[in-house]
Amino acid sequence: MKKGLSLATLILLCFFQYVYSDTPDQDPYLITDFSRLHPVKVERLVQGKQEEQLIKLVKEASEKKLKISIAGQRHSQGGHTYYKDGIVIDMTSYNQILDFDPQGKTIRVQSGATWREVQDTIHPYGLSLKTTQSQNIFTIGGSISINAHGRDIRQGSMISSVESFRLLTAEGEIKEVSRTQNAELFPLALGGYGLFGVILDVTLALTDDAMYVVTSEELSVKDYSRYFIEEVLANPDIHMHIARLSIAPGSFLEEMYAVNYVLEPSIPLEFDRKLDFHEKGVIPTKFFFNLNRSFDWGKDVFWQAQKQYFHTQQQTVISRNQAMGSESAFMEYSKVGQNDLLQEYFIPVQQFPDFVSQYKQILQEEDLNLLNITVRYVNHDEEAVLSYAKDDMLALVCLFNVSLSNQAQVEFKHSIQRVLDAVIAHQGSYYLPYAAYPSIEQFQTVYPRSKEFFEKKLVYDPNELFTNNFYEHYKGE
Ligand SMILES: Cc1cc2nc3c(=O)[nH]c(=O)nc-3n(C[C@H](O)[C@H](O)[C@H](O)COP(=O)(O)OP(=O)(O)OC[C@H]3O[C@@H](n4cnc5c(N)ncnc54)[C@H](O)[C@@H]3O)c2cc1C
Repeated sequence: MKKGLSLATLILLCFFQYVYSDTPDQDPYLITDFSRLHPVKVERLVQGKQEEQLIKLVKEASEKKLKISIAGQRHSQGGHTYYKDGIVIDMTSYNQILDFDPQGKTIRVQSGATWREVQDTIHPYGLSLKTTQSQNIFTIGGSISINAHGRDIRQGSMISSVESFRLLTAEGEIKEVSRTQNAELFPLALGGYGLFGVILDVTLALTDDAMYVVTSEELSVKDYSRYFIEEVLANPDIHMHIARLSIAPGSFLEEMYAVNYVLEPSIPLEFDRKLDFHEKGVIPTKFFFNLNRSFDWGKDVFWQAQKQYFHTQQQTVISRNQAMGSESAFMEYSKVGQNDLLQEYFIPVQQFPDFVSQYKQILQEEDLNLLNITVRYVNHDEEAVLSYAKDDMLALVCLFNVSLSNQAQVEFKHSIQRVLDAVIAHQGSYYLPYAAYPSIEQFQTVYPRSKEFFEKKLVYDPNELFTNNFYEHYKGE
């Protein structure tokens, strides 16, 4: 990092870097995703609005031998939502709530709706989502198509909260899909990355909203597996959990803190209180996060500030609904030629300390700019064909700041492949919605049913009408 500058100069430098960081130009025919990697020209971008329109579009593309990719909020980072010269269907306008049964605790919703839109509907009825990502900005279609997971440690990965959905297939037909109807398609399309058709609407199982008291604890990486099993999983009142590893030089991958959301049944639900996801203090937090991004000492400052913040959150009360929509605006970043990219590794609970120790060594040797690691839990669930939870797993969500230049990308890919070898050596897996750094061999090792997945893809879509960069990269010959 930069040496020999005064603290005041460094803070000023960082401030100007934040204020004047420029946004890349937008070409109407060029499309990319949250990664800003590999932009391509597409034939057209169509807003999905009505069922009839989507059927017509699928038939037209099929006749003209065009390709279709499906997009939600496009927060995946591996070209999962576009393909060169293809049609991109943007589903975000296809977002109506179709049916809500508070007694039966289910909701049927069009796939372009966001979790936030569902939360606003169900909150006044004392109901809540079973599983969602940490943020509520994503679409339902984009989330179930990657089989997402979140902070709830009792409900599993997202597939378990889906009851059924309607799928617009490559033939332009609509199929009802559930665990009993067209059942083969259920574990293929969920976690299927838009390759089996357009998910039109989805019936989700809901759970009760609850009031939680927040507790937090500082601990060492070495003690985390024991702590998680004995003090978190074993306590049925802890419904949600997240932990954070230090990336500060003084305590790099040694210190952690954990945050638990503990059920407090004596506190009444806040039916009348509107959910408030307006982020407070974005500018100062963004400034501190930029210090974390730019300087080693900034990482120390940010880590101390984070620990302090969570200390002040001790014993605060929060509803489940409110907790399922954490802050993210402070991490938004738009510097030309650079981006913050996610990678995520799932490690069996008992293997966690050993993996982290090896991971630490690789990160130091490769000199990567790691900004953040959070840890979540996801229990063993192999229902989806492309399932990542082959055991009870701790998920390490890692945010790196990287240069987007070709040379830097080659080097970053090499580093990530080294990490993945360590993941595989620890019987772990990795998450597919992020950039395609893993080699095809690593992909096939981690996802042993990928061959079956691609074979079934050709059964349901022999002309490969539905495609995207992720599919083209990993399908093999
Ligand atoms: C800042 C950030 C934080 C994140 N946090 C988490 C987290 O806590 N937990 C987690 O699990 N993930 C997390 N993710 C990953 C995120 O869940 C995925 O990228 C998710 O796919 C985003 O939803 P989306 O609406 O942007 O989907 P998109 O990126 O638009 O689409 C994802 C995939 O779904 C397909 N798809 C979309 N809609 C449909 C449809 N209607 N029918 C068929 N296929 C469809 C697309 O073709 C694509 O393959 C995070 C990502 C970011 C950038």
